[in-house]
Amino acid sequence: MNKKTVRDINVVGKKVLVRCDFNVPLDKETGEITDNRRIRAAIPTIQYLLDNNAKVILCSHLGRPKGEFNDKYSLKPVAKELSKLLGKEVKLAKDVIGDDAKALVANIKEGEAILLENVRFHSEEEKNDSEFSKALSSFAEIYVNDAFGTAHRAHSSTAGVADYLPAVSGFLIEKELEFLGGALENPKRPFVAILGGAKVSDKIGVIENLIDKVDTLIIGGGMSYTFFKAQGFNVGTSICEEDKIDLAKSLLEKAKAKGVQLLLPVDNKITKEYSNEGEYMVVASDEIPDGYMGLDIGPKSIEQFKEALKTARTIVWNGPLGVCEFEKYAVGTNEIAKILASLDATTIIGGGDSAAAIEKMGLSDKMTHISTGGGASLEFLEGKALPGIDCLENK
Ligand code: AMP
Repeated sequence: MNKKTVRDINVVGKKVLVRCDFNVPLDKETGEITDNRRIRAAIPTIQYLLDNNAKVILCSHLGRPKGEFNDKYSLKPVAKELSKLLGKEVKLAKDVIGDDAKALVANIKEGEAILLENVRFHSEEEKNDSEFSKALSSFAEIYVNDAFGTAHRAHSSTAGVADYLPAVSGFLIEKELEFLGGALENPKRPFVAILGGAKVSDKIGVIENLIDKVDTLIIGGGMSYTFFKAQGFNVGTSICEEDKIDLAKSLLEKAKAKGVQLLLPVDNKITKEYSNEGEYMVVASDEIPDGYMGLDIGPKSIEQFKEALKTARTIVWNGPLGVCEFEKYAVGTNEIAKILASLDATTIIGGGDSAAAIEKMGLSDKMTHISTGGGASLEFLEGKALPGIDCLENK
C-alpha cells in the first residue's frame, strides 16, 4: 500500500490541515495531561511542515464531548504542551470552523502552527457531514492525515476533507503502513502471529485474514478456552463463547488444511476466583476441573511458544495471553514480551493491552514497531480498508 506522504507534495508556503491524534489522557482533577506520548509522536510531521515553511493548521478530537462545546474536552492543555515541545507558541482557536478559527487561519504565517478546537464539538464530525468537511477543508490547500488511531473511522476530519483537498499521510501513518502493511503483504518468513485477548468474537476477522498469510498462529488468552471446548476439553468456569465453538472447530480445520501450525496453550494457570488473591494450580489444557477458570498460560506453553518464535523473522502480536491486569496472571504476557524483545525478528505490536504490557516492562525500544491504534490496527490486520488511509493519494 503505497500512499503519498508529506515528502511527496510541495508544502512550502501552503496552508496544511493536519489531523493528529491528540486524544491524550487528562487528570480528572487538575485537567493536566498525564501522558503526552501521542503529542510527542505527532511532532516529527509537524516539525517537518514547519521546517518547510508550511502554514500548519492542526486538528484532533479529545474524548467524547457528544457534539457540543464542553470545556472539559477543550484542547487547551494540548496547545500548551505542543507549544512547549515545539519551542514556539501554538495558538488555540476558540472554535473549530467558527469566526475565531477563521481569523487565526487568515493570519497564520509561514512556519507557524495553530490548533483548532476539538473537532467532536460538532456532531457533524462523526457523521462525516459533507458541509462540515467542506468548511474544514476550506482552511487549507493540503490535507495530511497522521492520526492512525482514528483511521478506521470515516469522519469529516479523518476522511471527509480528502474529498476536497489533495491528501497525503504524515510520518506516523507512513510507519504504520510500512510495518503493518509490510507484514501482511510481504513478510519475511517464517511469519508468526500471536493472538490473545478475551474473546474469539473480537478476533475472528483477524484470525481468518491471518490464517491465509502466516506460517504459525499462536492463540492464547481467554480465546483459547473456546478452542479447547471445540476439541472436547472441559474448560470449567473459564471464559468460553458457546456460540463460537463451531467456528473454532472450522478454524482448526482450516489451519490444518492450509498447513498452518496452530498452537494453543498446553497448560494453564487455573483458579477458583477471578482475582489476584486466590491460590492457583497449573494443569494441562485437557485437565481443567469443574469450578476452575484458566486465567493465564502455564510454563510449558511459554516454552512451546518460545520454541516457535525462535526462528520467526516476522512476528505480529495482538492481545494479552492472560488476565494481565492481575500480576499473578500477567506472567505469560510478560514472558512473551521478553522473548520478543530478545529476538532478531521484525516485531510488530498491534496496540492495546499487549503494547501497554511492553511499555510497562520498559521493552518498547526493543520492538520494531508498536502500533499507535488498537482498534485501527485490529481492522488493518483483518484486511479491512481503513477510510482514513483509503482516502489518501496513491504514489
Ligand atoms: P482484548 O481487548 O480482546 O485484547 O482483550 C484483553 C482482555 O483479555 C484483558 O482485559 C484480559 O484480562 C482478557 N483476558 C486475557 N486472558 C483471559 C482469560 N484467560 N480469561 C479472561 N480474560 C482474559
